Amino acid sequence: MQIISLPSQAAITYKFFWDGFSPSVKKHGTLFVDKGKISARSDINTSTWDYSNYCLLPALIDGHVHLVLPETGQNFAERLRSYLNSGVYALRDAGNKQGFVKISEPCLVLQSGFALYKEGHYGSALGIGVSTPDEALAAIDNLAAKGADQIKVMASGIFSFQHYGKTGAATFTVSELKQIVKRAEAYNLPVMAHASGDEAVRRCLEAQVTTIEHGYFMSKETLRQLATSEIFWLPTLAPVKAQLADPRLAVKLTPAMYDVIKRSYERHSRLVGEAGALGAKIVAGTDAGAPGVEHGRSLAWEILLLHEAGLPLQTALKAATATAAQACRLTASGTLTPGKKPYILAVEGNPLENPAVLQKPVALFLGAN
Ligand SMILES: [Zn+2]
Repeated sequence: MQIISLPSQAAITYKFFWDGFSPSVKKHGTLFVDKGKISARSDINTSTWDYSNYCLLPALIDGHVHLVLPETGQNFAERLRSYLNSGVYALRDAGNKQGFVKISEPCLVLQSGFALYKEGHYGSALGIGVSTPDEALAAIDNLAAKGADQIKVMASGIFSFQHYGKTGAATFTVSELKQIVKRAEAYNLPVMAHASGDEAVRRCLEAQVTTIEHGYFMSKETLRQLATSEIFWLPTLAPVKAQLADPRLAVKLTPAMYDVIKRSYERHSRLVGEAGALGAKIVAGTDAGAPGVEHGRSLAWEILLLHEAGLPLQTALKAATATAAQACRLTASGTLTPGKKPYILAVEGNPLENPAVLQKPVALFLGAN
């Protein structure tokens, strides 16, 4: 895997080319970069990078990670390298106890700093507790001043591995969530809302958050509402699947817990397929840092799980490119269309036919800032 800083003018030849959203690839051509952006011009006289045996597509975006987790193992720089080596140039951090982290690698990290959780409820491992709307709004003012890229809010607990269908209670009221969204929007910041259980998801939909994270155990009616809204959904399949698929984790589960998690996963995966059929805006987020979910490599796995859940490959790939860029408000990238910054991934075959090619990317081109 090569990581290549592109000069402001460049030409890259390709065998296949996927722009990040179209239903098919283009074959045998050249992608041009001019003045640091992808260009429609084809008369640019510049040095050529020969990738005529490979497929070019947008570099990938992971919409939900926890950079500081787990607390042992790789350091931040190593984790960021893992993303780049996996073809992921942008990632959205979903909050942590330490707040903002220093970024040492050429990754685009969208930081939440501290997640906001309701005092006395789930979330103390990911951020700061607030008891009243005024405290929440003051925390948003503070996060915005420190350079947050979005506001992460914990609108519920997590789902139970012991009791099928049981989720931690919804925490913030609709009115509180609406105030949070309004204040975040005053700073032009999107709101990413952790929500599991039907009630929490419904509250988030009503409050018009930007993205719903997880969404385990929402009802079919709520799923329909989500699918017809402008709100993005990050179903984060990987952290649940890892409990079943990673032998180091599965061995710790009682047979009853294994069964609860398996049924929960199957229900969630079915919902993803139904959401896709209803036209929901689905985004790939790995929850990397959760047990068994590796930084970087897991995104190709999440894309595969989205596809296995029933999304057409094109939709599953869009979930980590064009749709992810919309959800994360990365207006300058996410597709390979004229005017966008050249964050480009090279892989060995057509990912619209074989997503496994994402597991061994060949090169990541990073545009000049
Ligand atoms: Zn998370």
